[in-house]
Amino acid sequence: MFDRIVAMTIASFAVILTVAMSSDRAAAQGCCGGGGHDHGSAHDDSHESSCHEGPVGPPPPLLTGPHDGQFLIAGDSTMEVVMLPQELRVYLYGKGMEPRSTQSFQARLVTQLARGGEKYPTLLQFVPRPPGSKEQDYLRTPLDTQRLAEGQTTIAFEFENFPDQRHPKAGYTFLFLQEMVRPHVAAVPLMPGDHDGIAGQQNCPVTGARLGSMGPVVKLLVGDRPLYLCCAGCVARVKEVEAHRNAPPPSPVASQ
Ligand SMILES: [Zn+2]
Repeated sequence: MFDRIVAMTIASFAVILTVAMSSDRAAAQGCCGGGGHDHGSAHDDSHESSCHEGPVGPPPPLLTGPHDGQFLIAGDSTMEVVMLPQELRVYLYGKGMEPRSTQSFQARLVTQLARGGEKYPTLLQFVPRPPGSKEQDYLRTPLDTQRLAEGQTTIAFEFENFPDQRHPKAGYTFLFLQEMVRPHVAAVPLMPGDHDGIAGQQNCPVTGARLGSMGPVVKLLVGDRPLYLCCAGCVARVKEVEAHRNAPPPSPVASQ
């Protein structure tokens, strides 16, 4: 998995986007999205309900989005679903993968821990970008991924209020895989907005080399924080340092 991420990060983002956009697997679980069908305005209620009660599809393709999430596609909009250990986020993009605001976008998540079990619906909340930040806003909901069972828990999304009004709604249902949970340190593709970040950081924290002097810059997300490296060879070192930093302190010897 690590090799895949690094390889994809080095590849140009345009290539990744082409793969995402042409993926039949992504289209397969979208009831109203995916496949580029222009039928949003033609919905009737019977279609809506059957569409959102549809069969569970395979998990979305594990592609590396700008936040190391999985892509779901509906018409001109692409959603990036990012699962962190304790929360789930949805970022929104336009046709050319330009970031779009989620302020009026709506996402509902329904988790079902096992087939036939109770369903837990939640409405995702809007998180504005911090003042002065070039980061993208997103929708979020708390989600304890430790409670989810690989291959048993189903995750269903209902999206509404797309900026692209031809696709007012879309629904997706898929099985949870542990691999979908984003690690603390994740390699992600560069976006146009990273230009300023690279200029500000200037040097690789591992080698000290000037960013760009060793080939294409590699971007990591360390938690929420972007970190730029001179080359893919430096990724392992950052992971090592972060793993050490986040290691639980040695448990004290029981004294009672
Ligand atoms: Zn390097």
